[in-house]
Amino acid sequence: MCDDNLDIMLDKLRIIDKMYDMVRLVNPTTKKILKYSENKLIEENLHCFEFWERKQTCNNCVSMRAYQDNETYVKIEYAPDKIFLVTSVPAELDGNRIVVELLKDATNSMVFENQDGIRHTEVYSMIECINSLALKDPLTGIYNRRYINEKLPVELINAYLVEQKIGIIMIDIDNFKEVNDTYGHITGDGVLKSFVNTISGCLKRESDWVARYGGEEFLVCLPGATQEVTENIAELMRRTVEHSTIRSNGHDIKVTASFGICCKKAKKGITADDIIDLADQKLYEAKNMGRNRVEV
Ligand code: GH3
Ligand code: MG
Ligand code: MG
Repeated sequence: MCDDNLDIMLDKLRIIDKMYDMVRLVNPTTKKILKYSENKLIEENLHCFEFWERKQTCNNCVSMRAYQDNETYVKIEYAPDKIFLVTSVPAELDGNRIVVELLKDATNSMVFENQDGIRHTEVYSMIECINSLALKDPLTGIYNRRYINEKLPVELINAYLVEQKIGIIMIDIDNFKEVNDTYGHITGDGVLKSFVNTISGCLKRESDWVARYGGEEFLVCLPGATQEVTENIAELMRRTVEHSTIRSNGHDIKVTASFGICCKKAKKGITADDIIDLADQKLYEAKNMGRNRVEV
């Protein structure tokens, strides 16, 4: 993009000047602020989430969503003492996909502001709740596929930057169709919820997370985990599931699950899809080898 084009873009922004208090360019994959200077796009040594006075990435990163879907997204976010409306617009600059973030201080223009009985902290927790809804699976309460799509690429970049491995476990409940066919879908839903509690209970580190990949399939992400740690956690999950009895809708039900593992040192160019595919192939092998097993 040449200077002229940047001027045109900024001119367009000026028209809607009053709608925004601050404009910034971000690379949502590295979470770094960008500066366009002398015809060059420069990554500054400043993370976008520092603006919110946080030490880590925002879970509901609308800029990552804008970047991936090439669509504009909006969210409400808060920094200490201020509430912002964030509009993330995807753009191309110098052949690079970037995101233009438009931030409007909405502290004094929100309808609920200054109403009796509502404190800032309550508003903040309402915002947190709304923001997390888009990333949570309503049945089980764990993260959803969208979270995987947005968070895993960032985890891979982090692992690459700190030169650490990342462990991925793909899990699929065995013969789950039979549970539904025998006891009905409501009971099946209860089994899914309980299953999630069991596997989540096997995670100890705050940075580890589990998400529903779809149906009765789950993905576990273990940033910084070695092959041995990943295998041990998968085996612990497998055993705990095997030895648990799930009480759902008045029935006592036992299920097993199959596990596929991939533990890799993040390399430049390795994508979230690559790493999911590798774990998925192992999961497929676990199914073929008789189910209720961990394949590495
Ligand atoms: P396999 O061991 O090969 O994985 O066998 P399976 O029966 O688990 O596999 P299959 O893919 O044939 O069936 C998955 C079942 O999971 C079918 C589908 O109805 C059920 N399922 C998916 N999502 C939900 C849900 O949200 N609630 C309930 N109750 N069932 C679900
Ligand atoms: Mg399945
Ligand atoms: Mg299954």
